[in-house]
Amino acid sequence: MPLFGKTRRAGPVEPPPAPLPVEEVSSHEFTLKLSYSAKTSEVVRIKNGKGMADKLHDMLGGYVRESELVAPLPPELAQASPNIARVPGSVQWLQYNQGRSPVTRHAMVVFETCDAIDMVFETLVVGLLDGHVDTSGYPEYNTIVGGVVSHWDEISGDLLVRAIVGWGGKGVRGDTERTASRLLSGLFNNIIADSQSMGTVVVERPVPFLGEGGAICQHCGYNSGHERAFYCPKCGMRMVRG
Ligand SMILES: [Zn+2]
Repeated sequence: MPLFGKTRRAGPVEPPPAPLPVEEVSSHEFTLKLSYSAKTSEVVRIKNGKGMADKLHDMLGGYVRESELVAPLPPELAQASPNIARVPGSVQWLQYNQGRSPVTRHAMVVFETCDAIDMVFETLVVGLLDGHVDTSGYPEYNTIVGGVVSHWDEISGDLLVRAIVGWGGKGVRGDTERTASRLLSGLFNNIIADSQSMGTVVVERPVPFLGEGGAICQHCGYNSGHERAFYCPKCGMRMVRG
């Protein structure tokens, strides 16, 4: 008698009955509400002169203990973005900014996500304005960051500076916005108090030109797209025409 004869004679195994489809599965929900905010002041014109980078750091005096200057992006990284879903821009962003302090990186995420700055041609000098960092140096939920943003005037070559503050992430305190507004005013007063200040000015922010034929800066490669540009908004050098 074959050893498994009985099993073979039993025929195919019946599949289990298919479960009835359900209208709604029981689920676990996950939500993260992220909210970033930024405010910027009016733009102040500062007469071009020596030591402009030091001036920008000085404008944070009384508000920030340590400030860091972030120069505009080099032309090949113009698409760098902190939005992690946008590869390769996010990879470029991380590589370019990995050496900066956690406060600076946080500030850049807030400002760039809100579109409050354009690192393609603007310079940022930034630090911690209010709140604390954790033991690893990362800003806590209620911190306010900020400083000044600048670019060069395309016609006069003067420095155009505005104050900037930002906050947000996983949460805020009830008085965060009020505190941020007060800090913005303080930074603005520091800018306007500069000895070379020529008062506030209304400016169009230069839009980087991606087509052919714009005036390209021979020093940094920025293409302003304006034929009227005498100075590069990004590096402040005089545009050379061919
Ligand atoms: Zn330039």
